[in-house]
Amino acid sequence: MKKLKHSPILGIMAVALLVSLSCASFADESDKHIGKGAETLPLFDAHIHYKEPAWGPFPPATILELMDKTGVAMGLVSSTPDDGTIKLWKYAPNRIVPELRPYHGQAGSSNWTKAPGMLDYLVKRLNDFPHQGIGEFHLHSIDPNDKPLLRKIADLAIERNIFIHVHSGKEPVDLLFALEPKLKIIWAHAGMSEPAKTVEDMMARYKTLYADTSFREGGILNSQGSIEPAWRKVLEHFSNRFMVGSDTWVNAQWENYEQIISINRKWLSQFSRENAEKFAYKNAERLFGRPVKKNLIGRR
Ligand SMILES: [Zn+2]
Repeated sequence: MKKLKHSPILGIMAVALLVSLSCASFADESDKHIGKGAETLPLFDAHIHYKEPAWGPFPPATILELMDKTGVAMGLVSSTPDDGTIKLWKYAPNRIVPELRPYHGQAGSSNWTKAPGMLDYLVKRLNDFPHQGIGEFHLHSIDPNDKPLLRKIADLAIERNIFIHVHSGKEPVDLLFALEPKLKIIWAHAGMSEPAKTVEDMMARYKTLYADTSFREGGILNSQGSIEPAWRKVLEHFSNRFMVGSDTWVNAQWENYEQIISINRKWLSQFSRENAEKFAYKNAERLFGRPVKKNLIGRR
């Protein structure tokens, strides 16, 4: 092959080509992933609990300091008992979206649907406080005897235009939508142990199914620290329906709160800015009708 003679024009063209190629690849990369930009997004934590054992070691001021420190501008809070949620909401109403967890007294995750007076309790709490959801509650399995109560809870959610937040596998979500197709359901932990493919099928089937991704960080981020392809597919396809969350179900989760939030930012960093913003706070803004802005940090 004939050797090209050195030419200043060719040299300039080569440099221009290299510059444009590297700019293009840089632009592609930044289009593709938000990267470090995920570290400064305001977050809406869609799965906070403030249970009684946390009230002593983590008073409301400490919880809000943790939220400030981690850039969590706002959170969806449900507690056992509900007084925990109300304590946090009264302390920082601009930062807390309350939802009503049914558990109180002897009524817990495995027996709440059988607890005497449950419906009256829920109605009274909903009348007394501005909860924007009923949950997070567990439905471990389907018991036909629970249907009358679940039907009434679905009616309450529709009448008040609030969410149901359910921790369950696929079948109880199917049951709830069968009882009332117009429900807005937040699927806790994005189905908890359901595979990403099932979550995808459910999102396709139900247009008003949403999910928080708490406890799923380990599935979304694979052992190499990149996004598991099946999760990328469902998260990108239904990017308007997912919200990050921490799930502070025991005090150890509060102790590790900074680390949990940082893992969430790590997986967010591997999505486009548009999608990362949706998962971080924009979906929550739309669903709860509340602006989730950085200037909330530090406010009470
Ligand atoms: Zn849960």
